[in-house]
Amino acid sequence: MSEAKIIDGKQIAASVRADVAAEVARLQKEHGLKPGLAVVLVGEDPASKVYVANKAKQTVEVGMNSWEHRLPAETSEADVLAVVDKLNNDPACHGILVQLPLPKHINAEKVLNSINPDKDVDGFHPVNVGRLWVGERALVPCTPTGSVILAKSVLPSLSGLDAVVIGRSNIVGKPVAALLLRENCSVTIAHSRTKNIEDVVKRADLVVAAVGIPEMVKASWIKPGATIIDVGINRVPSENGKTKLVGDVAYEECAKVAGAITPVPGGVGPMTIACLLRNAAQAAAMIAGVKSAF
Ligand code: NDP
Repeated sequence: MSEAKIIDGKQIAASVRADVAAEVARLQKEHGLKPGLAVVLVGEDPASKVYVANKAKQTVEVGMNSWEHRLPAETSEADVLAVVDKLNNDPACHGILVQLPLPKHINAEKVLNSINPDKDVDGFHPVNVGRLWVGERALVPCTPTGSVILAKSVLPSLSGLDAVVIGRSNIVGKPVAALLLRENCSVTIAHSRTKNIEDVVKRADLVVAAVGIPEMVKASWIKPGATIIDVGINRVPSENGKTKLVGDVAYEECAKVAGAITPVPGGVGPMTIACLLRNAAQAAAMIAGVKSAF
């Protein structure tokens, strides 16, 4: 059987970043507008620190202003809310991202809901969720946007396709489903209570897996020629006694049946920050009331 086309997330993310850089240059030239993105990090979570440093580096590389607000783990909820409030009222700042997870004594929902929806570059605020579902212009969560860009890189039109999204979280599954519906797919959302999930997935022309269970989706679940977008990032023991990253899809066997597939790592992962930068450029244009490329 022939092997699936491998969807190169690194390369596609680089091209999204190049588009953002071009948009940032245009906004500056035509409107004197320099988009700015602020990241708020509370505490010392090592993975979050690496992620925030990467975001800051890439933000500067596309020509935007970048600010990092690093607060100690013991910072009170009121003080975090005060930082968000200051950024909400700062005209130079167009995007605010509060890095999750927050320390346990801080109510994450309260903090996220305090972000001005027009600066909510993560797209988690209920106003943006509502805008997405009613079809208004919204800031859309980054990983779902990246997943759909990857699908469209091999399927220029998604219209009429049967899509199955496995997972219904607010940060991945539900927004992916909303975006695919907007692309005129017939969308099924599968989750932990779905009956005969193999049969449900087997109907799909497009499968998006966002579960968090290593290699759950098997080749026998896949319709020959289907496109697979694997959002999962799971660290598992590897043969050499160390660990490795795998997705929610059994990559080797599924690649023999699918038409196209994203690898893990190197698939959806690199798209997330690229789409965050895209959202920041979009937010800046929207706040200024000028045309946006995105
Ligand atoms: P959540 O844990 O929030 O949601 C997982 C979803 O999977 C839930 O809706 C759950 O169903 C469903 N599920 C659990 N078990 C099963 C099962 N046996 N069969 C079918 N569905 C099941 O995870 P996230 O959405 O936050 O993340 C999903 C994956 O994506 C993770 O591996 C995460 O690391 C990765 N991720 C990757 C990102 C990236 O940048 N590439 C960004 C964000 C996440 P139910 O609702 O019924 O419990």
